[in-house]
Amino acid sequence: MADKFDLIVIGAGPGGYVAAIRAAQLGLKTACVEKWLNKDGKVVHGGTCLNVGCIPSKALLEASHKYVEAKEDFSDLGINASDVSVDVKKMMARKSTIVKNLTGGIAGLFKANGVTALDGTGKVVSGKQVEVTDLDGNATTYDADNIVIAAGSVPVEIPPTPMTEGLIVDSTGALEFQEAPKRLGVIGAGVIGLELGSVWNRLGSEVTVLEAMDDFLPMVDSAIAKETQKLLKKQGMDIRMGARVTGSDIKDNEVVVKYSDEKGDQEATFDKLIVCVGRRPYTKGVIADGVSIDLDERGFIHVDDQCRTGVPTVYAIGDCVRGPMLAHKASEEGIMVADIIAGHKAQMNYDAIPSVIYTSPEVAWVGMTEQDAKAKGIKTKTGAFPFAASGRAMANNATEGQAKVIADAETDRILGMHIVGQHAGEMIAQGVIAMEFGSSAEDLALTCYAHPTMSEAVHEAALAVEGHAIHMANRKKKR
Ligand code: FAD
Ligand code: AMP
Repeated sequence: MADKFDLIVIGAGPGGYVAAIRAAQLGLKTACVEKWLNKDGKVVHGGTCLNVGCIPSKALLEASHKYVEAKEDFSDLGINASDVSVDVKKMMARKSTIVKNLTGGIAGLFKANGVTALDGTGKVVSGKQVEVTDLDGNATTYDADNIVIAAGSVPVEIPPTPMTEGLIVDSTGALEFQEAPKRLGVIGAGVIGLELGSVWNRLGSEVTVLEAMDDFLPMVDSAIAKETQKLLKKQGMDIRMGARVTGSDIKDNEVVVKYSDEKGDQEATFDKLIVCVGRRPYTKGVIADGVSIDLDERGFIHVDDQCRTGVPTVYAIGDCVRGPMLAHKASEEGIMVADIIAGHKAQMNYDAIPSVIYTSPEVAWVGMTEQDAKAKGIKTKTGAFPFAASGRAMANNATEGQAKVIADAETDRILGMHIVGQHAGEMIAQGVIAMEFGSSAEDLALTCYAHPTMSEAVHEAALAVEGHAIHMANRKKKR
């Protein structure tokens, strides 16, 4: 007879593998089902994030950034690095080694924590049963007191630009180019489009980004978004806003993209095209007919604030449910549901989930923009500080960008923090912790920051909320 488990998790991405490890740590007999196959046909853990998402993209972003630094910025520091060249194949091989080590590491963590790894495709056949079809096509049904679905997401495809081997690719394909295409088109100026566009721009491609919306990065405070757009333009990215892609043709191994903007119908020709128009939840085959788990109108599994589906013993987390499609959000939901299943009280603060765009400089934010607050009728006071006035930023040759704190005008409670600048992705943790603890801008202003650090810009921005920044002429504040 097949084993019985306290918990079976379907999917071993950052949502599923974290849920499984936490549950096992809390004493639950746990199994995790995964079907992702590597190039050798072996099951690997880690999901989108480790295999084709966060990790490989960051490996290429870091390497390509260092290349540009060596080529263009070292001379500013008094370092003569002539004949700097790039070996894209080696860069790709390094990225693949990192992916291999990390995905292999999850199998080790499963072993160390006593999680049973089940290779194959999982399907919820009842509130307490999961059918697993192994790689040879044999199906086994396992009993489980609880089930977590963490099936993740896949890239959205749009009819005007069907995937075409080697020419029109999604984000996964864009992580596999073996040389920089001369002319590269990117559809979508979202997080993934800007990151992948940056990688190839740095490695020598002429990059054109076509974005249907008029507003650049609408989820980011408009002052920070504007500055980011300017900085990326300065780096050579041609970002065309209000450009809706309507069709494409392949001619002589080139991609001709048709789009419309305020001037009318346009065309642009590329050697390769990356389609980065978002991701959709992946739920294909995960729920058997007759199990009453609902999907919403966009295909996400419908869950409550604690990730419960309509079936009390079945939870769903990560990219296949509502909320931002981020690895750390998936992991935190994994921890929350494991805690709940183990009988503990747990909840998540969805208002304090940070986001980072790993361009150079990085863009990072948490909470509301000044514009969000205004739209909600909340009166705000804000403080901003430019890295151009930071001693550490000057020493780092990284004076681009600014940090901005948005606080409630009446209570002084921090509502949001938005930053564009070197290491913004590290600095934003301060905003997240401040918001988790319900801090006021004054709390940050009264905190002692190490000098010289980039984070002092956050301190100064908090001081600037009351017009008290030290290293800047403050805007006059109404009192
Ligand atoms: P996934 O990681 O998609 O994992 C789901 C897993 O479930 C997969 O392994 C899949 O094979 C498995 N599965 C599905 N159905 C079944 C089944 N029936 N049986 C067995 N297994 C199944 N997020 C960040 O936070 N930071 C970043 O820097 C970042 N960069 C990104 C860059 C790129 C290019 C991309 C594409 C994404 C990036 N993301 C980033 C998003 C991040 O990868 C996702 O939010 C995250 O992976 C979601 O985790 P998940 O566990 O919900 O799903
Ligand atoms: P994200 O959801 O952050 O990954 O961003 C995807 C981006 O792609 C969004 O900003 C969309 O507006 C954009 N997008 C979607 N469809 C099209 C299209 N046909 N042409 C241009 N941009 C598009």
